[in-house]
Amino acid sequence: MYDFTAALEKLKSKNLYRNMLYLDSAQGPYTEVEGKNVLLLSSNNYLGLCNDERLKLAAISTIKEFGVGSGGSRLTTGSYKLHKELEAKLATFKGTESALVFSTGYATNVGTLSALADPDWVIFCDRLNHGSIIDGCRLSGAKLVVYKHCDVEDLEKKIKRYHRTNGKGLIVTDGVFSMDGDLAPLPAIVDLAKKYNLLTMVDDAHGTGVLGATGSGTVAHYNLQNQVDIQMGTLSKAFASEGGYIAGHESLITYIRHKAKSFIYSTAPAPHTIAISLKALEIIQEDGERRKSLSEKSQWFRRELTTMGFQVPMNDTPIIPLLIGEADLALQYSKLLFEAGLYVPAIRPPTVPQGTSRLRFSIMATHSYEDLSLALEKIYTIGKELNLIK
Ligand code: PMP
Repeated sequence: MYDFTAALEKLKSKNLYRNMLYLDSAQGPYTEVEGKNVLLLSSNNYLGLCNDERLKLAAISTIKEFGVGSGGSRLTTGSYKLHKELEAKLATFKGTESALVFSTGYATNVGTLSALADPDWVIFCDRLNHGSIIDGCRLSGAKLVVYKHCDVEDLEKKIKRYHRTNGKGLIVTDGVFSMDGDLAPLPAIVDLAKKYNLLTMVDDAHGTGVLGATGSGTVAHYNLQNQVDIQMGTLSKAFASEGGYIAGHESLITYIRHKAKSFIYSTAPAPHTIAISLKALEIIQEDGERRKSLSEKSQWFRRELTTMGFQVPMNDTPIIPLLIGEADLALQYSKLLFEAGLYVPAIRPPTVPQGTSRLRFSIMATHSYEDLSLALEKIYTIGKELNLIK
């Protein structure tokens, strides 16, 4: 038998072994993790809705009415009117004709890309796109051309080299990059797509609910509604629920519905998760203050880290990477912060490229400035102890 123990030991020796920490309470700014009350700076619960009373009530009343499981795939017994309602509302939210909900964001990307493309296609993919995009591209059998992160010059160079004239070409990018918190240069990407007759797909898992005038995400942030062919999103981050979706033209969405295996062969999301998403969507659309406060706190936190002497990219997304370099140091920093009462994960390869291990802070709208100030003091003290700042 393959020596799994030796393989795991090897991961440990490289500081790439992954321990899981278990939560013992609902997610708030302060959360019980492994029996310790810590400030949570690691959750994608950007709007702080995971423990929101309105979402909990939506789930409870839906469970009382419809039970707890969907009992089958969307094409058999798993589709409820709630799914249809959510799809219609997501399409309106994203400014598209149609939308399709999958059981997770991961399944959405893998299913959509593998349904859309085949070996006759070429897909241009940002180097730092999410793993589910890469897996979907690979599964499709399309020619995969990776361009340098957010580098439109490199993208155009590669399009000129590999582009096919059969109309079977796609550029796919994260809207907000999950481990860097930066934004894709969508206006330039859309221009290139028009110039070379390519489709575009934007994974806005981290921009939705966070960016844009009504919270609809990176595409709206850049005023590019109707100019991106496939807008993908998750219901698992700002929406505080579970699931993923694509939004786009009716014919394209119906095509994916007929072809995406992760849609066809997987059980539909349970009705109460859909009810949570519906309620979250309503709150996102109505409560611009929550989004504004998240953006202000995120910018402030970035500025404070910079003032302390850390190098942190400046933008207003809640994902804030603090680049460390080697995995062992990132892990040590994360452990010391945990002991000091902060939960900030060390992100290591293969999630990020070799030599770019980092701490990934994520801000939530429900953090107070006092919480964040206290965190910054600890980040500074321990950062100094580790010689990470002068
Ligand atoms: N795309 C991106 C950019 C993500 O960050 C994630 C989740 N981390 C996904 C897709 C997958 O979404 P889900 O967690 O809902 O499966």
